[in-house]
Amino acid sequence: MAFDDLYQEIILDHYRNPCNFDKVEGDATEHENPVCGDKLKLLVQVNDEGIVDNVKFEGVGCAISMASASMMTEAINGKPLAEVEVLMNKVFGSMRGEEDINSLDELGDLVALKGVIKFPVRIKCATLAWHALEESLKEEKE
Ligand code: ZN
Repeated sequence: MAFDDLYQEIILDHYRNPCNFDKVEGDATEHENPVCGDKLKLLVQVNDEGIVDNVKFEGVGCAISMASASMMTEAINGKPLAEVEVLMNKVFGSMRGEEDINSLDELGDLVALKGVIKFPVRIKCATLAWHALEESLKEEKE
C-alpha cells in the first residue's frame, strides 16, 4: 500500500468512527473554517493535577477536519498539559512548514496529517480542531 493510501485510510477511519464525538454543551465555543464549511465545538478540561481530560467534540465538515479533530482528542485525552502543548506546537509547526513534517511520524494516527500538506487549501481543515484546542487551553488558564 502506498503511503498516501495509508494516510487516506486512517483519515477515513476516523471520519467514519470518530473518537470522543459527543454532544458538547455549555460554553464551548464554536470554530469554523468558512473556506470549506467545517464547523466544530470542542470541550477540553484540565483537572487539578494538570491533566487534560474530558475531551470531546461535535461538528460537521469534511473528512479531514473531522478526522483531525478525532485524532487530536485521542492524542491529548489523559495527557499532561505541558505534553499537549508540545504536541499542538508540533502540529502547527509541521502544517506551516516550519518544522520537519517527519516529526509527525512518532505521533500515532496523526502521521496521516502528512498527507494533507500536499493540499494547501486543506491545511485549514486539518488545523481547525487544533486552533479550537489552542483557544480552549488559553481559556482554561485564565
Ligand atoms: Zn474542510
